Amino acid sequence: MISAEEALEKVLSYVDILEEEPVPILDSPGQVLAEDIASSINIPPLDNAAMDGYAVQSRDTATASSESPVLLRVIDTVIAGAISEHEVKPGTAIRIMTGAPVPEGADSVVRFEDTDEDRRKSSAEPPMSEIGISGKAKTGLNIRRAGEDITRDSIVLKKGTVIRPAEVGVMASLGMSKVTVIRRPVVAILATGNELVEINQPLPAGKIYNSNTYSVAALVRRYGGVPKILGIALDSEDSLVNKLRQGLDADMLITTGGVSAGDYDMVKNVLAREGKISFWTVRMKPGKPLAFGTIKGVDKTGAARNIPHLGLPGNPVSSMVTFELLARPAILKMMGKKNLTKPTVAAVVEESITNSDGRRVYTRAIVETRGDQYFARLTGPQGSGILTSMSLANGLVIVPEDRAEIKAGEVAKVIMLDWNEESSN
Ligand code: AMP
Ligand code: MG
Repeated sequence: MISAEEALEKVLSYVDILEEEPVPILDSPGQVLAEDIASSINIPPLDNAAMDGYAVQSRDTATASSESPVLLRVIDTVIAGAISEHEVKPGTAIRIMTGAPVPEGADSVVRFEDTDEDRRKSSAEPPMSEIGISGKAKTGLNIRRAGEDITRDSIVLKKGTVIRPAEVGVMASLGMSKVTVIRRPVVAILATGNELVEINQPLPAGKIYNSNTYSVAALVRRYGGVPKILGIALDSEDSLVNKLRQGLDADMLITTGGVSAGDYDMVKNVLAREGKISFWTVRMKPGKPLAFGTIKGVDKTGAARNIPHLGLPGNPVSSMVTFELLARPAILKMMGKKNLTKPTVAAVVEESITNSDGRRVYTRAIVETRGDQYFARLTGPQGSGILTSMSLANGLVIVPEDRAEIKAGEVAKVIMLDWNEESSN
């Protein structure tokens, strides 16, 4: 039996970063930039007003105070999106709105509050021909400088950046509608088991609904991949091979079930027949029966290609946990991501957890913070068929191989599956 680390290393050694493709910027969050992005423009493009007010020459305001305002002649008004054709000369001002380019000659913007505009408005005769400035304006006051956000010809976003909403906004501010990213991997998913019935169908006695396909597909999507659902194979090698053939154009194949003692040989035989086995059984719980290898396929050009195949255990909890530990990092690597690990925290375990057979145990837990300390309590019964335990959990407490027990009150490492924003706990 190999360790969880060795298993992950093996899986990762069989997957490579995928090709680049252009996508609309709004489809790109979560994907990795495949190119440096340089700006051909300054942002903002021109010096512009940060406040509504009056564009002036600061020299003119040197003696201004509320007791003795400096009077300036108003020669124009400029709104955002327009450019004034006038120049601010000594003794003059141009009324200006936030975002409007600063007119020639002006070196500062005095906000309305520091003028007598309000008083004039209530009494007078628009358009205002004169304005009183009631405070001294320093050069550059309330002016956003051209290029202060992005300077022309600079690299704004680096190749390898994971795109988030902020990067989408930055790209839009450069006028980009498409961006070149590492493409999303297609992950083919096949459930196995004579007992399985497709959702939406009546449930005959003795059968259960196929839930693994959907939990696994949802995980694939959550981590950025594109699930390709192959349906259900019966517990026979022929049925498995036939169904798997429909997934040979995928970047990765995932099967669930058919790896435990009862039907132990099925996935293994298929891997041996149609490809190559890399490992079988991992020193972890859940996940002891787990198969990994490659299946022979062809690429778009017809050339031979080995497709990584992960045979996850059939138990609904086991398939999800082993997906998190082995399939998720593979998907992230294919997408060009560098950080392949889930965040972990050190939490005080609130009840003791035992480890009977020297495997690494991943226990479903609810992690909470009290004060500045994390606490983890178990979700209840830990049977690997109890899928609602995954629904309750936001973390997996790790019990190392060499520990027979973690006692209540001890601190343990916990893999966080979700943070509060995504979980109801
Ligand atoms: P197996 O690994 O095929 O022996 O399956 C282990 C357990 O998981 C059995 O109780 C199966 O009924 C259950 N199981 C296997 N595949 C699925 C599935 N796709 N959806 C729900 N339960 C499953
Ligand atoms: Mg089965």
